[in-house]
Amino acid sequence: MSPLKCFTAMVSALLPLMAAAQKPVEVVDEKIPSANPSFKFPTTENELVPRMPRQAVKPLVVTESDPVDTLDTMSDFVKVVLYGNGTWKYIKTEDFAWDNEIFTKNWDNRNVDPYKISWDKLPSYSAIWLVDSLSNYACPYQGRVNPRGKFGPRRGRRHQGIDLPLSTGTPIYATFNGKVRVSTTMRGYGNVVVIRHENGLETFYGHLSKRKVEAGDWVNAGDVIGLGGSTGRSTGPHLHFETRYNGYAFDPQWLIDFETGVLRHRMFVLKKKYLSQFSNYEQNFDDELKSAEEDAAEEAALKAMRWHIVKSGDTLGKIARNNGTTVGAICRLNGIKSTSTLRIGQKLRVR
Ligand SMILES: [Zn+2]
Repeated sequence: MSPLKCFTAMVSALLPLMAAAQKPVEVVDEKIPSANPSFKFPTTENELVPRMPRQAVKPLVVTESDPVDTLDTMSDFVKVVLYGNGTWKYIKTEDFAWDNEIFTKNWDNRNVDPYKISWDKLPSYSAIWLVDSLSNYACPYQGRVNPRGKFGPRRGRRHQGIDLPLSTGTPIYATFNGKVRVSTTMRGYGNVVVIRHENGLETFYGHLSKRKVEAGDWVNAGDVIGLGGSTGRSTGPHLHFETRYNGYAFDPQWLIDFETGVLRHRMFVLKKKYLSQFSNYEQNFDDELKSAEEDAAEEAALKAMRWHIVKSGDTLGKIARNNGTTVGAICRLNGIKSTSTLRIGQKLRVR
């Protein structure tokens, strides 16, 4: 028996055990209640605590090793891939997605936006499973978002993704499992790859120096889909990365913390408002609150204003008396002197 066969046989024997122990994605932040010694399991319904809303996922450690063998499992849809360095992982077979209309409906290898869904028809929110026990996640490129390359309007154009500066030739990874919908060269994007994932989400990778996949290829999270570069409308090497759903782009930072590479959620609730080009993850809500307060104060001041139209026989003293104010206050509000001559029809602010 060759060493590889022997290894294969050993792994086959261990598979049921490995299946139980397998944890393809590592979950950070997820608090398991029983890990807390002071925690007591609830005995009544009222004591139930809500589920942790956020379950961040560390990126897959991308293996540089080549696959050496594929093993069957109990399911036709799931196989085990063994790598030369002794690591392994579960993968879904292509059959898994065969019947899935995600990969047939609105499928176009040339058009980056084959969906023609009007804004009114979009749901107010969509719950999107990003990873599960068979679907991994890899950070496409870990780095800092260029402050001038954020999601949103930029110099009168729409910037539908984020820019991550890098060195030319850096490997770029498929973010989730899926099928390559577009792999082409376009004027704006340069070399661009678009992958549609099992949950309907699409990821875009632009300005690549080299594309390593073709339209129709099935990819797994962590597969190298191209190399970073500066092709297309680009002034320096960077990855232009987009996330779209139903053809509408949203800030990828809702999903990924690019500096740490961590996926922020396992299940992501995409709100319709995120699909607006003005919805930026890093929006400063303190500023927004402050300007909302200022707007409200201004509106209140506008509402409190009272005016008087000067009639024949009016004097400043009479107007002040009739409006419960003073001559001095009226003069200040209107920038006039107490000796100023009033004109009939003149509009005076009295409050
Ligand atoms: Zn960009």
